[in-house]
Amino acid sequence: MKEELNELSIEQVPIGNTSILEYDCICIGTSMIISLEACYQVSKGCRVLMVDKEKTFGGAWKTITIDGIKNVENAIHYFLPDERAIEFMDQTLGFPVEVSKGKYRYFNIFNLGYIKFSYNSWISRLIHKLFYSGSIDGFIPLVRHIFRSIILVYSGRGSRSYYVSSGSAKMLEKIKDRLDKHQVEIWYQSEINNVYFDLGEKKVKCQIGDKIVVARSIILGHGARLPEIDSSNGELKLQEKIHPRPAFHLVVEDKKRPRSLEVVMTSDSLIKYVHDVTRFSSLRDSNRFNKKIFVFALHPNILDDDGLCDKLFNKLIDIKLINADAQVITSLYSDIILPTNDDEDLNILKDSFGDLVNILRTENFARGIGYYAERWNS
Ligand SMILES: Cc1cc2nc3c(=O)[nH]c(=O)nc-3n(C[C@H](O)[C@H](O)[C@H](O)COP(=O)(O)OP(=O)(O)OC[C@H]3O[C@@H](n4cnc5c(N)ncnc54)[C@H](O)[C@@H]3O)c2cc1C
Repeated sequence: MKEELNELSIEQVPIGNTSILEYDCICIGTSMIISLEACYQVSKGCRVLMVDKEKTFGGAWKTITIDGIKNVENAIHYFLPDERAIEFMDQTLGFPVEVSKGKYRYFNIFNLGYIKFSYNSWISRLIHKLFYSGSIDGFIPLVRHIFRSIILVYSGRGSRSYYVSSGSAKMLEKIKDRLDKHQVEIWYQSEINNVYFDLGEKKVKCQIGDKIVVARSIILGHGARLPEIDSSNGELKLQEKIHPRPAFHLVVEDKKRPRSLEVVMTSDSLIKYVHDVTRFSSLRDSNRFNKKIFVFALHPNILDDDGLCDKLFNKLIDIKLINADAQVITSLYSDIILPTNDDEDLNILKDSFGDLVNILRTENFARGIGYYAERWNS
């Protein structure tokens, strides 16, 4: 046992207080995609441990409570079109998937005011492709750009957006039920700090606080924060990619019932997207005070400053999502970052450690489900 710990080269762990536990697979995080893989591994007879440094389940799709309102979406969520994933989510997982409701693109053409078009309409896609997809220099490239935009819009590629009518809370509930049925063990508030790949013994050894977990493989996706990685072949250094995508939650009191529920802002200096997520939260059951909850995805450079709440509140009035006499109840800024590993990082891990790592392509949720739906179905 002592020898094994020495090989781990985790000298800072006091051996007396360390417990060593063995599993077949250890998962970094509790996102839905990683959870589905965990259930699949259990169905193959493996003993699986999931470890998350957060207190709650779900990774990027976890829900939060704000001003006593439960089941609030943590960030902007939607599914890009992926037939296999949509079918799997609908039929196997029982998610009530639907084409996103009330989704509009807002354009502020020449700063004269906002016009909106249904997200999926040809005019919205054409304006977006023609005017907002990069700068074009020269007459020939311009003609080519116009021609290409028309063809792309005509063929309708990438136009649809989907989501579930029940919000992420119900999705998480269903996935959590699966994990419980498969008796997957989960440790919350537990961070994997060091990983040692023993290529001779074909084992991966993880340090989690004062525990050592030894497994036959480690399961991870794009969102895993990679700990220090060492191996019997030496150290491996991978650079985390930090892409901030700050989120802002705004709870207001307002009586307006606009048609827009999901807004894609085109060339706005603050906002990329804003969704009215009231219908997914506990407010759907009882909303006596006409509360609404909005979540914004902001541009990476937007910091939490004193004026931000007012600016976003006024923008909601400008784009007519709320009335001018609406009242701010509370707000919350979260410095969310997008997944920190790219495909190349995951490929390097796979090439270096073979079967000791099970990498999942989780960067895009629906596509991530689509890649593995067949094997999970089997
Ligand atoms: C806020 C946000 C919103 C997103 N929304 C969408 C969307 O709407 N549509 C879409 O297609 N894609 C979306 N994505 C992309 C996202 O990558 C996938 O949806 C998916 O959740 C990624 O799964 P994952 O397991 O790689 O990472 P995550 O879902 O980020 O989960 C990683 C989990 O692992 C835990 N963790 C990380 N490192 C460690 C460690 N060393 N030790 C212990 N625990 C650790 C974290 O606490 C976290 O809970 C979103 C991403 C983010 C960040």
